[in-house]
Amino acid sequence: MKDIQMVDLKGQYQKIKSEVDKAIINVVETSAFINGPEVKAFQEELEAYLGVKHVIPCANGTDALQIALMALGLEPGDEVITSDFTFAATVEVIGLLQLTPVLIDVDPNTFCVDIEKLKKVITPKTKAIVPVHLFGQCANMEAIMEVANKHNIYVVEDNAQAIGAEYTFENGVTKKAGTIGNIGTTSFFPSKNLGCYGDGGALFTNDDNLAELCRSIVNHGMGERYYYPRLGVNSRLDSIQAAILRIKLRELDSYNQARNKAAAYYDDAFAGNEHIKTPFRDPKSSHAFHQYTLVGCGIDHFELQKYLGEKGVPCMIYYPVPLHTQDAYKTPSMKHEDFEVTNALCGSVFSLPMHTELTEEQLKYITDSVKEFVNKK
Ligand SMILES: *Cc1c(COP(=O)(O)O)cnc(C)c1O
Repeated sequence: MKDIQMVDLKGQYQKIKSEVDKAIINVVETSAFINGPEVKAFQEELEAYLGVKHVIPCANGTDALQIALMALGLEPGDEVITSDFTFAATVEVIGLLQLTPVLIDVDPNTFCVDIEKLKKVITPKTKAIVPVHLFGQCANMEAIMEVANKHNIYVVEDNAQAIGAEYTFENGVTKKAGTIGNIGTTSFFPSKNLGCYGDGGALFTNDDNLAELCRSIVNHGMGERYYYPRLGVNSRLDSIQAAILRIKLRELDSYNQARNKAAAYYDDAFAGNEHIKTPFRDPKSSHAFHQYTLVGCGIDHFELQKYLGEKGVPCMIYYPVPLHTQDAYKTPSMKHEDFEVTNALCGSVFSLPMHTELTEEQLKYITDSVKEFVNKK
């Protein structure tokens, strides 16, 4: 059996090697390394795939979040609500812009922001909500948009983990994750569902005005050539990455299907096991399975991780420490007892290998190994 990896980028590359190699050499030969035609073509192809009016490529997913918040014209002290249970980048950019992060607890099933808790923290200073479509499944966007519209608050979807997922509203309208709020952001970090071979990111919006602001901000805030009406940053997707992403975008749906197939195997293998809670499926959202994350009941997830490691099965804890306890982000208004669900999840979740190249033999070995551990308990 081939060695099991958390993410098998090499195996995936082997299958598209000739196309990718050709595309990379083509960029090198044309030497249009920055803002070349590949970037423009990728932008247009991603717009068509997502059904969104504007895609603005940038250097990484963290920049995308920062640029989104800059485009909204928020002022220091404005409150931005996001999840306590996410990757640090989401809250980091709020702090960098001197906005006030308001972290809230998550729903125990979806691991995305809890709507009742969201309603409770809204104040006149609340200017934006940043829902995170954690592990590949959409947050409750119907309810989030309702709250945001009622209070006139911007919504920036952190879609770094759910590109390709779809959300269906009560009225039957289906939209791609990241195209529902005012702005959506994503990351093309290699291990993401649509990953490049370095760093990359993008913003999505249907708003012409916000799109123009984002395009200016990624390019030093430039308006007319060499005139700078606002502060910006330097954040570009390079042409080699764009050329690779064009090839991988064509595979994205089949990649997400492969992830779903692995997830279905895991679901079946763990069904009914009292020590393991398999991922909840929200009927309103498809799942892109960026991660396959289980909740352990009555087991020590670090002990399990160690046991699996010895058997050659990688296992990761996403995420072990709640953000409200981090020195960089905590504020006096964040009370440990307000984050009951996140606190419990950080002490019990574990993620199993999830990628496009998992074989049935590997899946059997992984699930057998997990069951060996939990059934000893
Ligand atoms: C990966 C990730 C980011 C950051 O993306 P980078 O490209 O690494 O900067 C932001 N938010 C979430 C939820 C992520 O998973």
